[in-house]
Amino acid sequence: MSPSVPPSKGAPAHPASEAGRRALFPAATDAEWSDWRWHQRHAVRNLAQLEKYVPLTPDERAGVQETSSLFRIGISPYYLSLIDRDHPLCPIRMQSIPVRAEARIRPGELADPLGEDKTRPEEAIVHKYPDRVLFLALDTCSVYCRHCTRRRITKGGEAELSKEQMRRGIEYIRRHPEVRDVLISGGDPFLLSEERLEELLAPLYDIPHVEMVRIGTRVPVCLPMRVTDSLARLLRRYAPLYVVTHFNHPKEVTPEAREACERLVDHGVPVENQAVLMRRLNSDARIIKELSHSLLRIRVRPYYLHQMDVAEGCEHLRTPISKGMEILQQLRGHTTGLAVPHLAVDLPGGGGKVTLQPDYVLERGEQKTVFRNYKGERYDYPEPEETDCSCPYDSVWQQKRWG
Ligand code: SF4
Repeated sequence: MSPSVPPSKGAPAHPASEAGRRALFPAATDAEWSDWRWHQRHAVRNLAQLEKYVPLTPDERAGVQETSSLFRIGISPYYLSLIDRDHPLCPIRMQSIPVRAEARIRPGELADPLGEDKTRPEEAIVHKYPDRVLFLALDTCSVYCRHCTRRRITKGGEAELSKEQMRRGIEYIRRHPEVRDVLISGGDPFLLSEERLEELLAPLYDIPHVEMVRIGTRVPVCLPMRVTDSLARLLRRYAPLYVVTHFNHPKEVTPEAREACERLVDHGVPVENQAVLMRRLNSDARIIKELSHSLLRIRVRPYYLHQMDVAEGCEHLRTPISKGMEILQQLRGHTTGLAVPHLAVDLPGGGGKVTLQPDYVLERGEQKTVFRNYKGERYDYPEPEETDCSCPYDSVWQQKRWG
């Protein structure tokens, strides 16, 4: 992949992927390595292939065997090249190679932790919130994440949508004028051909009440060579379109990932990140802070830090709620506000997202509110004398705007 733009100031340049590529895929030519379809064809998909590249621990070997009927394995050569072959707690390894705990389903864990199937009026559509829908476009990914909470779909039971299912999904949105925001996900929509992606984006763009589209993808993290100029140009044609990606650890912010994200941004496609907090993988304020700083350096906004969903086989990766709050407390005030993601819990069973933050209010009174700041110091905030907060000009503005 040839650089399209000069790197941003201070962009990460650690050579993990280059060294890994030389060690694991020495025969791959530059042309092959920069071809995302080559990575798809050479993805590691079973135990025998995996053992050729990584000396597995007994726990990992048993994990691969015991989860084989539950969730598929798939690791792109690029993502595999980032693995620390000497350390089983390498964050790349923990996200892509199963361990035995993943095969154990605990009481209370859910196959559909966000209750999406209860609000799925069409195969392609989840309509849970009033003004937005999730559009499930396909079931395949470049890497099958061990923390995936949509594995009931990505385990392979559902294929790429047929043209008819896609048409019905688009028609549903057309019939629902309250839908102003469409999040396309799956699976990973960036694995669709550009032709297929356009078959989806063009009709959505033509629906007057759809104001914006978001695409959820792990491709910039796991298969960055897929983000070609041609893909970025296509996405830009359908602005406002936001890419929501999913970096979980600063080790993933490689020169290749930077190039993918900056290519999108340079084409006018904003990129934001949703990380998942995972026990022993990134459950530490220092790591989350480094992740946020690394993302900001490549012009990706750290947006959400998700508490792990109560999904089947993920118990071993879940953190106590208090850990996320503690991390936020160590970020807020100690670094740039843009580097502090929202801490979100998606309530089990379909209750929707709520956000959490440490409590900075010490006392609430009619005259003043007493806060503590990030250093623990007390500050008074006086209430104003006038408390009428109505906005009389708003009716005028609405009249002028909507006629
Ligand atoms: S890329 Fe997303 S949908 Fe695919 S396995 Fe990972 S978390 Fe699940």
